[in-house]
Amino acid sequence: MSQNRISWHDYFMLQAKTIALRSTCTRLMVGCLITRDNRVIAAGYNGSVSGDVHCIDVGCKLENGHCVRTIHAEANAILQCAKFGISTNGADIYVTHFPCLNCTKMIIQAGIKNLYYETDYRVDSYALELLKNSKVSIYQIKTSFEDYFPLSVEKKEFLKNILNELKTNSNPQTFRKFARKASRLFNINMEL
Ligand SMILES: [Zn+2]
Ligand SMILES: [Zn+2]
Repeated sequence: MSQNRISWHDYFMLQAKTIALRSTCTRLMVGCLITRDNRVIAAGYNGSVSGDVHCIDVGCKLENGHCVRTIHAEANAILQCAKFGISTNGADIYVTHFPCLNCTKMIIQAGIKNLYYETDYRVDSYALELLKNSKVSIYQIKTSFEDYFPLSVEKKEFLKNILNELKTNSNPQTFRKFARKASRLFNINMEL
């Protein structure tokens, strides 16, 4: 399906979302990808320092409502570049959630030029101010895996047909019950 070929932004953002699944801190699972010239140069998710225990095994280490055990996804990706001697200057970063203040500072200082994120998460006003005064451009990208799998489109259609059958052949209450669930689980919107 060439007309449905994935765009670069979606291609990288969906990878960031996959990377987030490796997170070991379930308070918030974040994934991050650093690219240059449309090539991936590093990736990271939020998790413990190498060798330490994981939040998912022993619970978070909370201080003032924050888990202090983990290194954030963006920091992990930038540190991976430091470890392997890869320049981040002029690179792009894709993050599943808007970066925290500390990660924002690292992103700016690492010379990253474009920040792509999907979810607004506790957007820090000082982080925003720093980004505005920096040369980093910020873009929000919303994408889902389902958009790129033809079968998922077919599945949605199939479910819609079943719901329409229900609408005509069962009582309105039953229809609404299933329609609401379909809306939540499959993002299908039926007229109730
Ligand atoms: Zn944690
Ligand atoms: Zn952070």
